[in-house]
Amino acid sequence: MKFGTKVIHAGVTPDPSTGAIMTPIFQTSTYVQESIGVHKGYAYGRSHNPTRSALETNLAALENGTDCICYASGLAAMDAILKLFKPGDEILSTNDVYGGSHRLLTKIYDVFGLKGSFVDMSEAASIEAMITDQTKLIWVETPTNPMLNIIDIKAVCEIAHKHGVLVCVDNTFSSPYLQTPLDLGADMVTHSATKYINGHSDVVHGCVITSNPELAKRLRFIQNAAGAIPGPMDCFLVLRGIKTLHLRVERSCQNAEKIAAFLVDHPAVSKVYYPGLAEHPNYDIAVSQMRAFGGMVSFDLHANSYESAEKILSNTHLFALAESLGGVESLIGHPASMTHASIPREDRLKVGLTDSLIRLSVGVEDVEDLIEDLAKALATIKPS
Ligand SMILES: *Cc1c(COP(=O)(O)O)cnc(C)c1O
Repeated sequence: MKFGTKVIHAGVTPDPSTGAIMTPIFQTSTYVQESIGVHKGYAYGRSHNPTRSALETNLAALENGTDCICYASGLAAMDAILKLFKPGDEILSTNDVYGGSHRLLTKIYDVFGLKGSFVDMSEAASIEAMITDQTKLIWVETPTNPMLNIIDIKAVCEIAHKHGVLVCVDNTFSSPYLQTPLDLGADMVTHSATKYINGHSDVVHGCVITSNPELAKRLRFIQNAAGAIPGPMDCFLVLRGIKTLHLRVERSCQNAEKIAAFLVDHPAVSKVYYPGLAEHPNYDIAVSQMRAFGGMVSFDLHANSYESAEKILSNTHLFALAESLGGVESLIGHPASMTHASIPREDRLKVGLTDSLIRLSVGVEDVEDLIEDLAKALATIKPS
């Protein structure tokens, strides 16, 4: 089955008791048993829920995996993954990993003896020197946030597996429509389904997908034992959002490409970060592992100041000033004061994350309107 068919049909069958074509919201905590220990595979809501099962089957199919386990948020999914490891184990992560993932590793799990180390993975070769006997997992996120660097998933997996190390890819920024890391060798894929997968900015949700039966078994055990499950209503909403994943992401990518081209030519803009630009340092890797280049675009201004960025952020009307990404509506953000405020300024500047860097999550509106909105906002600052 191809992707556009899978999003609609995988895991979804008409309800046998009523014929309802849409998966019902099984809003129940428990299930009546025929006699002691005799039930229909559902005994208690933390362990199993039919709405959640349908979503898990669907997501496993989208990532070309055999198993999916869903959680209450993207970070709850990461939390479950980290529970696979034990004190003394080391997790090697990309240095521009999502801030919440960095916080979970360094502020929660370090107390329990897990060591997080961080390296720039846009040069896959620099990873090997960082692997020690304790390294058990490599955590990849690509494209990265907000600099939109691309990491060569296949190359990372080859290096990791040579050393017996597992690889997990946070695929939130791409969605399975654009790239399927399990096909490139990854052992696990995780998502903040809050973003593109749900796509309508009305749910917080996470998942892990794998084809490794041992990992799947342990993750299911952790899901049931630790209990960070999503509610049935949220699973229903994510399953509904997924039905248009391919259409939404395709339109976002088309819009983002046009917006990136508009920004490249704009006199007030000094630099555009978008993996679909031929001058992007990892353009070739993006072409090889992604179907299109995503809906995220970052750019910097010649007027290199917080004030000029603020002027643009307060003068767009369609692009709403907000955290998050991947919804149908376009968002604009200021990484230095929003998502990346906890990173020291010197460290931010080293990777190009300046006070004037602006990040766009391009939605599925008509691109002419989005470009006009940006043009008007950019006209409020003087080109230098
Ligand atoms: C948002 C996000 C997360 C965290 O997901 P939540 O659903 O907010 O818990 C993890 N990774 C990336 C790349 C994200 O953008």
